Amino acid sequence: MNAYDSARMRDAMAVHGYQETENPSEADILLLNTCHIREKASEKLFSEIGRLNEFKKARKQEGKDTLIVVCGCVVQAEGAEILKRSHPVDIALGPQNYHRLPELVAAYNRKNGRVLLADFPSDSKFDYLPKTKATSASSFLAVQEGCDNFCTYCVVPYTRGCEYSRPASDILKEAQELVSTGAKEIMLLGQNVNCWHGDGASDLGDLINQLAQIEGLERIRYTTSYPSKITQNLIDAHAKLDKLMPYIHLPIQSGSDVILKAMNRQYTAKSYEEIVAMFRKARPDIAVSSDFIVGFPGETDDDFAQTMEVVKRVRYASSFSFKYSPRPGTPAALMKNQVPEDIKTKRLMILQAELLKQQQEFNSQTVGKILPVLLTERGKKEGQLVGYTPYLQGTHVSLPDTFLNQIVMLEITDASATSLTGVKVD
Ligand code: SAH
Ligand code: SF4
Repeated sequence: MNAYDSARMRDAMAVHGYQETENPSEADILLLNTCHIREKASEKLFSEIGRLNEFKKARKQEGKDTLIVVCGCVVQAEGAEILKRSHPVDIALGPQNYHRLPELVAAYNRKNGRVLLADFPSDSKFDYLPKTKATSASSFLAVQEGCDNFCTYCVVPYTRGCEYSRPASDILKEAQELVSTGAKEIMLLGQNVNCWHGDGASDLGDLINQLAQIEGLERIRYTTSYPSKITQNLIDAHAKLDKLMPYIHLPIQSGSDVILKAMNRQYTAKSYEEIVAMFRKARPDIAVSSDFIVGFPGETDDDFAQTMEVVKRVRYASSFSFKYSPRPGTPAALMKNQVPEDIKTKRLMILQAELLKQQQEFNSQTVGKILPVLLTERGKKEGQLVGYTPYLQGTHVSLPDTFLNQIVMLEITDASATSLTGVKVD
């Protein structure tokens, strides 16, 4: 979502003649987008500001002004503190206000001074953002934002605000813009993407059916899904639509019902596994991935063992796993039974070893298969391209740049836990 937001800020500034640069020394504006989800991400902010300030100081000596703009969820949570603590920051902008970036930059340049904007406006930023263009052959498109679920560990409902779904007509228009500027694949984004309930379609499954009509759009993905809000219509779309990739990211967080309840997650381990089974019935080859939190307050050895059992039953293609991180203002941060750091570390290592093993197994079973791979990037090695299989496996192939942004049939020749290698078949 942050990558998408950054691209939309680029679009907003492009209207005013600004261009994106990879080189901070030539930037008039240094824009830092931030994440508040875990403590580690937030902590990086002040060291990053220090790093950017070096560019600002060096440019000052050449007589050039540089604006440092900090945006994203850390600003929503701690904006005033950022301006107080960090002098080099000129503008601090929350995630619901970034459409106003050009206006704030103009006001700053008129010497109006440092500014913080982190309210929740009653109108939607999407109504003000200009046309977009594809960032690559695979582009993001935000369809839903915010969250009303209030899991007891999570800051998202406070930083991104309450749930909002964009109308289908806006989404279809943006998808057209992306496709006409080079996107072949669109990843629909939402904090809980399957809670989408905008005008013009009955649910996310219906919206995906409409998007699938767009000529030139070859692949559709979506993330992140909330387990208990999955509809039969969405599952059916996987059976019916070739364009919908066989991949579902369905975070379970924990395999213990006691912990799920304490987290305020609205499902049990059993009902989660039933939903996975329904996806697999509709699309037997579907890749399943998840997020996990270990060491949530009160998690016992037995609770953790239940998580491991679910993992061994479900068998994941890939996953993200984290140590529980107490976040300011959330109910779980105040719970008395916090788990010691060394136990969290031990559990995370056990979980990650199993997840990596499953990922290796999943990747190994594609060796010898011929798969369509969308080549989206240049590899680190000269003459190498990198792309993604329908199951979102990163795949390396030796091919010239002319194949960049193409879907190419590759025979998979080798698999590690983290990537595949392939050769082009004619
Ligand atoms: N809406 C999605 C997840 C969005 S946040 C869902 O409910 O599944 C992305 C992931 O960050 C979560 O799935 C969770 O695993 C992790 N996360 C969120 N808050 C966290 C915290 N306080 N500590 C550790 N991990 C956290
Ligand atoms: Fe956070 Fe997801 Fe829970 Fe919402 S549903 S509070 S985004 S973890």
